Amino acid sequence: MKEKSNDGGSGAKDQKDLKKPVWDALKETDRREMETLATEYRGFLSQAKTERAVSDLLLEKVSQAGFVDLEAGSPVERGGWLRHHGKLLGLFMPGRDGPLGGFNLIVAHGDAPRLDLKPKCVYEDSGLGLLKSNLYGGLKKFQWLARPLAIWGFCAMKDGRHVDVRLGEGPDDPVLTITDILPHLDRKVQRDKRLSDAFPAERLNVLANSEPLAKGKGKGRVKDALLGILSKRWGLAEEDLISSELELVPAGPAREVGFDSSMIGGYGQDDRLSVFSSLKSLLAQKKPRRPIMLIIYDREEIGSYGSTGAESNFVMRLAAAALAASGLEPSWHNVQVVLARSRAISADVEAAVDPTFKEVHDDLNSGWLGHGPCLVRYTGGAGKYGASEARAEYMAQIRRIFDEAGVVWQSTLLGKQEEGGGGTVAHLLAYHGISIVDFGPPVLSMHSPFEICSKADLFMNVRAQKAFLASS
Ligand code: MN
Ligand code: MN
Repeated sequence: MKEKSNDGGSGAKDQKDLKKPVWDALKETDRREMETLATEYRGFLSQAKTERAVSDLLLEKVSQAGFVDLEAGSPVERGGWLRHHGKLLGLFMPGRDGPLGGFNLIVAHGDAPRLDLKPKCVYEDSGLGLLKSNLYGGLKKFQWLARPLAIWGFCAMKDGRHVDVRLGEGPDDPVLTITDILPHLDRKVQRDKRLSDAFPAERLNVLANSEPLAKGKGKGRVKDALLGILSKRWGLAEEDLISSELELVPAGPAREVGFDSSMIGGYGQDDRLSVFSSLKSLLAQKKPRRPIMLIIYDREEIGSYGSTGAESNFVMRLAAAALAASGLEPSWHNVQVVLARSRAISADVEAAVDPTFKEVHDDLNSGWLGHGPCLVRYTGGAGKYGASEARAEYMAQIRRIFDEAGVVWQSTLLGKQEEGGGGTVAHLLAYHGISIVDFGPPVLSMHSPFEICSKADLFMNVRAQKAFLASS
């Protein structure tokens, strides 16, 4: 039986002709480069599981490459960096042309959906020590139960010191977990409920310890034991958790996926796949024609609010610093002019068609894994609400850049109209008059603890971003 077509009769055959596997375009040297990239990328994913860790790792890499603090007043040759609140990171690379003609800008985000610990989180119940968590970003709660979790965190002490917490990643580290009810007894509390009601956020309580403190009697000894561990291990008192950012993330390294090892599975690929690609693309540039800026935002997953999110005016501050580093007046007027003349990629992963849930996509405008990164003219919801939408001329310019560089890419949209929706930071950059379009590799199981990408798409994403940054 023939599959029902939902593309209004233009036919699945045409659509297939438009989609081309990246694999067919890879030369032997490309394949070697792809494997090297993929291995490095898996290491990056496994090493940088929080927005701070992403920012720290990038800062380390660009500092090694000769980038200097843009606000230190030293001359900027290779490039400069600007960081805000230990998270939001901006990079600038001078071009052969000065900045008055605008920048080639890539923006991505380093945060990912996760569970945070609440400021007051430690408690004891039924002889067990537990921690209360708080959702961060759009995650499917049931995916986080009954699986090993690592804890990563940054604890700021009243005396100005900070303590880094990291547990659960080493092969012999203990992990934490959130328990789930056994199927024998789940009928009333889960099974007969709607999915949205079956997993209340307040039930995502983290199992932390079980052995009571040797001294004392009765209730409270397990909590006391837990507080003792926090104190002994990290020097933390219960009150210090109020000024801590403690994040629970899926434990363990990113892995190759598939019998053919053609894919990569791991946590946080939205959007660290773009972060990794953009860093590689930036550092590959040798004296680009146009100056470059790269911004790794935080807080994209909760709507870009906050001082480290894209709702802040950081892009203006970075542009001003770049102007000053280029010997130009960083005036309000100049900042506005150079931003309005800039062109940008909002680098974020896109939804790959899941063969098991095909009905959520419009076939013709859907992205297939392994068929190249996706150029998405507009995101948003039905009726283009919330979409900045790249204008036709800019789409043409991007197509030309990619095609001239031999990039295999796809033109896609998030899903069918009225199916749901989503967005990126694009509209917040468009506010400054920047030409911007969404672009990134398709990912399966997005926002889950184990997101999947294709090595071939990663490779093409780097090729595309390199070409974009080098474009004149
Ligand atoms: Mn994203
Ligand atoms: Mn996301």
